Amino acid sequence: MSTPLQAATSQVVEEFSLSTETLRAIAAEFVVEAQRGLRLPGQSMPMLPSYVTSVPTGEEKGVFLAVDLGGTNLRVCSVHLDGNGKFKIVASKSPLTKKLMTGTAEGLFSFIAEQVRDFLAKHIDERFAEEQPHAGSTGHYFKLGFTFSFPVVQTGINSGTLLRWTKGFDIPDAIGPDVCELLQEQLDKLKLPVHVAALVNDTVGTLLTRAYTSAGNGSTIAGIILGTGTNCAYVEDRAAVTKLGDPTPADRDIMIINIEWGSFNNNNTVLTRTPIDDAVDAETPNKGVHIFEKRVSGMFLGEIIRLLLLDLSAKGLIFCQPSHELLTPWTLDTSFLSAVESDTSVDLSTIESTVSSSLGLPTTLAERESIQQLVKIIGKRSAYLAAAIIVGLLTQTKALDKYPTVDIGMDGSVFQLYPGYASMIRDGLRILLGKDASRVTIGLAEDGSGVGAALCALVA
Ligand code: ADP
Ligand code: MG
Repeated sequence: MSTPLQAATSQVVEEFSLSTETLRAIAAEFVVEAQRGLRLPGQSMPMLPSYVTSVPTGEEKGVFLAVDLGGTNLRVCSVHLDGNGKFKIVASKSPLTKKLMTGTAEGLFSFIAEQVRDFLAKHIDERFAEEQPHAGSTGHYFKLGFTFSFPVVQTGINSGTLLRWTKGFDIPDAIGPDVCELLQEQLDKLKLPVHVAALVNDTVGTLLTRAYTSAGNGSTIAGIILGTGTNCAYVEDRAAVTKLGDPTPADRDIMIINIEWGSFNNNNTVLTRTPIDDAVDAETPNKGVHIFEKRVSGMFLGEIIRLLLLDLSAKGLIFCQPSHELLTPWTLDTSFLSAVESDTSVDLSTIESTVSSSLGLPTTLAERESIQQLVKIIGKRSAYLAAAIIVGLLTQTKALDKYPTVDIGMDGSVFQLYPGYASMIRDGLRILLGKDASRVTIGLAEDGSGVGAALCALVA
């Protein structure tokens, strides 16, 4: 006889489970939406050309600057590419204040330029101090790659305009102008010997870094982020990007595409949908869009478990006295799920302390068992959705027909820190691909935003 809590838990597990048929439908629908986005501008999954038209061989060399404007920090670094897939990185980090994130374009970009100036003064040798070459002189210039992971329509490798801000940024006068020009203007004001050579999405950086560090095995086809959000860039045939017109003789054979796959299947034709998914969506500012991302990425998994627990609590099945934390949206981070998932102790003592510290609630063993089952199915659904969309990408690229092994670079805290996430992706791949799954290698692309930006600046 199962208890009411066990029965309710099993029901949620059932709702969140994805059948093989659903996984196959997702892979197939991905191909349809990808091809639509390659053909037509302005689609919900936009398939944005990055204007990066080659993949590193690992032999690239040189010193480059990189700026990574992330959600919480600004990173400035110099990247020394040594060839043979090796690199050295020197980085400095400064926090972004709310004032910078919601002020003016000039405020933000002059701050970035000042950080670049301070970095050069501190880390780049006498050459900088001696020459003091200024913009416009014929002196030495550093090429800078600018990692800017917001939705941008690019018109060239170092030009693009912002579609909208995300991740808590809101600087109205930065929407419209070319973001590279905004940065270059401020660098020039400080007379810095720096040229903004490339505008880089973090997924593109991940792809290039992985290709560089796997030193030219030639089969790295994609870079995927599984962090706050989820997205992917991949290597497409230029001729398939028909919305750019027919290739001219000046065009290269390939074009790296920033898929923006967070908005895959916004109309929910193949993604399954539970009442909790709708409740999470209702709490977001971009309601009804980025549906795929809201099932998969780090920003949302904590909120899914909070709402599930709140629902069970309201039904009197768990936590008869909900805490203030349980009632507060977005209190739980995906690290909560990681801690719960990892507990293998007999009395689930890690879960006991995690729930106590995050939610301020005591638990019984039976409650902890339920919480772990719920967390496991949320994590598994996320990884299986990632696997299914990867299989769609393999179909679109025909990569398994082209290469003996296909390589994919990954970055982001969910991929890196969620226990067993990589092996769950592998399980999903095996369900859909059978033994061919063993021909797909997936691995971390470390320092992707810095090295990737440097590689972009190099090919620019
Ligand atoms: P970003 O995507 O902003 O570059 P990250 O890759 O670090 O940054 O991802 C941040 C996300 O990772 C957050 O949404 C957070 O919930 C999640 N996260 C943080 N710690 C962990 C952890 N231990 N396990 C799984 N996810 C985590
Ligand atoms: Mg990141």
